[in-house]
Amino acid sequence: MSGILIKDCLILPMTGREPRCYRGSIGIVDDRIAFVSEDPVLGERFRQEQGKDVREIDGRGRLVMPGFINIHNHAAMTLMRSYADDIPLMRWLNDYIWPFEAKLTRDDVRLGTELAVAEMLLGGTTTFVDMYWRQEAVGEVVERTGIRAVLSATFTDAQFADFEKDLALLLERYADGRHPRIQLMLSPHAVYSCSKEHLLQAKELRERYGFGVNIHVSETKDEQRMIRERYGMTPVQYLDSLELLDARTLAVHCVYVDEQDIEILKRRGVSVAYNPQSNMKISSGIAPVVKMMSAGVNVGIGTDGPCSNNDLDMWDEIRSGSFLQKVASEDPCVVPAYELLRMATVCGAKAIGREADLGQIKAGMVADLQIIDLRKPHFYPQHDVVANLVYCAKSSDVDTVIVNGEILVEGGRLRRFDLPTLLADVQQRVEEIVRR
Ligand SMILES: [Zn+2]
Repeated sequence: MSGILIKDCLILPMTGREPRCYRGSIGIVDDRIAFVSEDPVLGERFRQEQGKDVREIDGRGRLVMPGFINIHNHAAMTLMRSYADDIPLMRWLNDYIWPFEAKLTRDDVRLGTELAVAEMLLGGTTTFVDMYWRQEAVGEVVERTGIRAVLSATFTDAQFADFEKDLALLLERYADGRHPRIQLMLSPHAVYSCSKEHLLQAKELRERYGFGVNIHVSETKDEQRMIRERYGMTPVQYLDSLELLDARTLAVHCVYVDEQDIEILKRRGVSVAYNPQSNMKISSGIAPVVKMMSAGVNVGIGTDGPCSNNDLDMWDEIRSGSFLQKVASEDPCVVPAYELLRMATVCGAKAIGREADLGQIKAGMVADLQIIDLRKPHFYPQHDVVANLVYCAKSSDVDTVIVNGEILVEGGRLRRFDLPTLLADVQQRVEEIVRR
C-alpha cells in the first residue's frame, strides 16, 4: 500500500455547481482519494496510520484540483505540428496532412503519442480521449507513461480493414476493464467519411461490446451542406436516424447545430466536445455552446489534434473557449470562469461515462490531480482564485501531477520520461519522415 498526503493546500474539489475553495489536506491510498478535509487532525492521523511509507507534499502556496480531461485529441499528430499552417482546410489536408500521414508507421504513431503525453502531463491533463489509427500503439504509450486514456478504434471507409485489426488487438488487451487506466470507444471518423453500412457495423459493435461512440459531427458548413445533399438531413438527424446517438455518444465539434439538433442531442443524452482553438484556427466557426448548455447538453473540452491548435494546453483552451463564447454572444456574463473548469473536469468525466469516480476531489474517487503553484505574479492579488485560474493560469504553473495515485510530474518535471532524448528522437524522426 502506498500513501500520499498533500498538506495545508488550497483545495478546489469541483464537487458543486458553485465554486468552493478551502484550505485543507488530501490523503491518497493506492489509486484512490482516501480523505479530503479542512481538519488538520485528520491529516495527522492519516500520516500516523500510513507510517513511514507515506509521501508528504507541502501544499503551502499551492492549489490542488482535479486533473484535466481532454475529450478530443489526435495525439500522434504532434509529428505534424507546425508542418503546414495558414492554409485553406482542403488544401491543408490534401497537400500536406494526408500525404504525411500516409507515410507514418506504427512506431511513428508511438513516438508522436509519447511527445503528446509528455506535453499533456506537464500541463495538468490526466486523461485524454484519442481518435487516431493504430490505437494499440497508443495503448502501449499510455501503459508506459502512466497517463489515463480512452482509446477510440478509428475508421473511415478507406481504412476499415486496418480498423478491424486494431480493434481486435485493443479488445484482447483492454476489454472489460483489463487495464486500470485504459478504456475503449469506437470512432467512426465522421458521417462524410464513413458509409451507412460501416456506421451500422459500428452500431452493432457498440451493442456487442457496450462501447461508447466518438465521432466528428457538424464541424464545418461544407459538411452540413454535403450531408443535407446526400441524405436530406443534418448530420445529427442522420446519426439519430441510424440510432447511433445515446448517452455513450461523444459528438465532437457540433459547430453547425440548429435548435432541432440540440433538442435531439439533449433527448439522447449525447455529450459534446468543444474544441475552440481548432475551430478558430481552421476557421470552422463557433459552436453554440451557450445554447447547448442551457438546453442541458453535457459539454466538455478538447484541444483537437496538435496540428490544428497547435498545442495540447488545456489551460489555454479553456481561456480561449471562454473568450470565444463571450465575443460570439456579445455578453461577458456567459460561461463564467468556474463553468469552464467544470467543462474540463466534471463534464469531461461524464462524457466518458466516468462521472461516478473521476473529475472531482472526493473520498473514494480516483486520485487524478494537478497541483498549481500560485506563487507567481500573475496569480496576485487573490481576489478570486477561480477567475485567476481560468483567466491567468498557464500550463507552466502546474507543479505536480498525480494519475491513479502515482506522482508523474513533480516540480514541473516528468518522472517517467527522459525528455531530452524524446525531443531529439522526435526531431530526427520527422526529418526522416519528410525524406521518405
Ligand atoms: Zn478531431
